[in-house]
Amino acid sequence: MKKIEMRTPLVEMDGDEMTRILWQGIKEKLLLPFVDLKCEYYDLGLPHRDATDDQVTVDAANAIKKYGVGVKCATITPNAQRVTEYNLKKMWKSPNGTIRAILDGTVFRAPVVVKGIHPSVSTWKKPIVIARHAYGDIYKNTEMYVPGSGKAELVVTGEDGKETRQLIHDFTGAGVVMGMHNTDASISSFARSCFNYALSIKQDLWFSTKDTISKTYDHRFKDIFQEIFDKEYKDAFEKAGITYFYTLIDDAVARVIRSEGGFIWACKNYDGDVMSDMIATAFGSLAMMTSVLVSPDGNYEYEAAHGTVTRHYYRHQKGESTSTNSVATIFAWSGALRKRAELDQLPELAAFADRLEAATIGTIEDGIMTKDLYLLSTLENKQSVDSMGFLDAIAQRLQ
Ligand code: NAP
Ligand code: MG
Repeated sequence: MKKIEMRTPLVEMDGDEMTRILWQGIKEKLLLPFVDLKCEYYDLGLPHRDATDDQVTVDAANAIKKYGVGVKCATITPNAQRVTEYNLKKMWKSPNGTIRAILDGTVFRAPVVVKGIHPSVSTWKKPIVIARHAYGDIYKNTEMYVPGSGKAELVVTGEDGKETRQLIHDFTGAGVVMGMHNTDASISSFARSCFNYALSIKQDLWFSTKDTISKTYDHRFKDIFQEIFDKEYKDAFEKAGITYFYTLIDDAVARVIRSEGGFIWACKNYDGDVMSDMIATAFGSLAMMTSVLVSPDGNYEYEAAHGTVTRHYYRHQKGESTSTNSVATIFAWSGALRKRAELDQLPELAAFADRLEAATIGTIEDGIMTKDLYLLSTLENKQSVDSMGFLDAIAQRLQ
């Protein structure tokens, strides 16, 4: 069989633990037999990040800027325990945080919906897409432990040297303090990517923040969205028959639970992080949540929304069998290949991406699935297979 050709390389970012093992399996069983894969490989596995003083993460992000499309495996964000486990030089920052800080943009997360898996929220009929702002706030914060009494202040020094000060807190004992920021430029591009995405998939857009409490910071997000909507998107939304509406995050949460689904929910960085885990779990499994970072200058980074599945990896290391779900990681590859196909005008490659997704969904709907789905599926003839058994079943279908 002749393999499908590619023109421009994909930026491939390898990762850690169980997902690194799935990554290898997906390439061997589902991609390499069919596609003449052209990738520029970056090893973002923790040992190599440590060896390169995390330079490899920065290089990978810059490569995405150069080529336009990347696909990333889940990676460990080190904490104190990981520093010991991997004997690290430093507690390196979150690779996703580093990549997002370089690319800017918005992360869109959508669940893969299959027959037999019903959302825990019984009113949900259609997927809910989370649009997560991918720049700033708590992910680019500066924080400090305050050991004892003292005054914490916010100081902004203008270009003319003029200082504006505000008291944060007059500490009378130990505590903690944090500073964070966002920029009008990044919030504006967040707004535009959300409006564009809503128009492209013809779904309503909801946006929520905590502007009643954060009267300057969160309020700025609300105002920028409204201004851009009124000036640039109102007519297009009307024509497309979709709506934009803003509401307080508390109200949004209540409405989301009562809704039928089928809309985009735009969230600030932290809200989107947490809410996408909630949405994913309620739709079935975290392992079914896909994720794509869209930067304002049109670069795309595809990945699974879940982590490296450490608990499964430790079992794998002990030689035990695992049943880890690879759907979101497969969809990261299919998403990236389809985008590459679109940019390079390669219809055969785009058709392959469609077939790969159809074979994955078809395998599950035929009753072959990993344990996480097996426990949820209402199909009558279902069987639970191990991590590689699931990939083999998809490969057979693809053949
Ligand atoms: P996780 O890897 O997402 O796994 C949490 C639990 O969710 C698993 O133990 C498993 O539950 C279930 N799960 C997640 N993905 C699954 C899959 N594909 N198939 C089957 N079950 C799945 O989150 P974590 O354990 O909190 O984090 C592990 C590591 O991942 C951390 O080092 C963290 O820094 C990193 N992380 C990376 C990213 C990223 O790169 N984007 C995102 C989040 C976390 P059961 O054990 O009950 O089966
Ligand atoms: Mg999260």
